[in-house]
Amino acid sequence: MSRVIWKSIKDKLILPFVELDIMYFELGLPYRDTTDDKVTIESAKATLKYNVAIKCITITPDEARVKEFNSKQMWKSPNGTIRNILNGTVFREPIICKNVPRLVPGWKKPICIGRHAFGDQYRATEAVIKGAGKLKLVFVPEEQGEKTDYKVFNFTGEGGVSMAMYNTDESIHAFAEASMNTAYRKKWPLYLSTKNTILKKYDGRFKNIFQEVYEANWKSKYEAAGICEGGYVWACKNYDGDVQSDFLAQGFGSLGLMTSVLVCLDGKTIEAEAAHGTVTRHYRVHQKGGETSTNSIASIFAWTRGLAHRAKLDDNPKLSDFTEKLEAACIGTVESGKMTKDLALIIHGSKLSRDQYLNTEEFIDAVAADLKARLSI
Ligand code: NAP
Ligand code: MG
Repeated sequence: MSRVIWKSIKDKLILPFVELDIMYFELGLPYRDTTDDKVTIESAKATLKYNVAIKCITITPDEARVKEFNSKQMWKSPNGTIRNILNGTVFREPIICKNVPRLVPGWKKPICIGRHAFGDQYRATEAVIKGAGKLKLVFVPEEQGEKTDYKVFNFTGEGGVSMAMYNTDESIHAFAEASMNTAYRKKWPLYLSTKNTILKKYDGRFKNIFQEVYEANWKSKYEAAGICEGGYVWACKNYDGDVQSDFLAQGFGSLGLMTSVLVCLDGKTIEAEAAHGTVTRHYRVHQKGGETSTNSIASIFAWTRGLAHRAKLDDNPKLSDFTEKLEAACIGTVESGKMTKDLALIIHGSKLSRDQYLNTEEFIDAVAADLKARLSI
């Protein structure tokens, strides 16, 4: 479904108004399969070269998709592949419309989650322990020096579970830099959440590196900018970021209102996309010729956030003005009462009637009409 709305966004909201020289990489599953996933790697390399990527949501295949698309193998998550090459931090932020109720009424400004996208639980070694015995963690230095044995636990009963995980100073530094950079650009405060009272060494390392990076590179800039009132950027470790960004999306209304921007260590390169998936359930309805009401706002914001960054890099105020107007057109359309079903449901409740929401195309057309008025066309 994300491909269906992507085409309408390009045709109705972007290409009629902006002259763009786009390098195109086809990340649909069939072409990833044809190229043995090389196209994904090429797209990430091009992102590093040109500094701005705007990405449509992609399928991370499971067994059912491998069968459906008759793929050569179960290709890895394209987002994982791209993130590894770009070595960045993912920032997710909800779009606020005044008339869309929030779970927490005090959430009047967005909260932007920065998710450290490397290590911890996502690269952990887990085990199911059977029976009694000693669990140890051993570090063997590559060069000279003694190996170190850490006693973890003495199992005396029937066994249990265990896990070993790690992170690197290099990656924590990159995470700290990207978080400070993003909060500074937004002129918002930055909070890092850790459990360093319990994980004194592990989470303590995150806390100390953030402090070091702040003192060394950001303190004077933050003080000069007088960062205070506003939303805030919340730097979360990998697992927390995954969980909390889904939680925030629900709390702020709908997954269809969540933007996602991957910021690279160079501070110059970004990749923008929507935070939700391909919305498969709606596509199955669309495939059968049924009516859908899929929220395209997060995908439209992938374009505006990407193009706004391009405008900044190229010092192009006209492009920047266009992106602001397109974002305002999306919010204005919803605030005028025209919206897709996901939003109408939280405003009107489950007794929703058909005249209280628009279908997928009607909503994009309504945004186009609002945009034209703002551009005085
Ligand atoms: P999903 O596509 O986010 O959809 C889950 C449900 O959330 C939908 O069925 C729909 O609820 C609601 N929803 C999400 N986005 C919406 C929107 N824009 N407008 C209206 N409702 C929306 O998650 P999924 O079904 O678990 O994943 C589908 C595919 O997406 C998978 O192949 C997965 O690999 C891929 N994926 C890709 C990315 C990425 O590329 N960044 C991220 C996540 C998932 P209702 O059914 O109640 O209407
Ligand atoms: Mg997730």
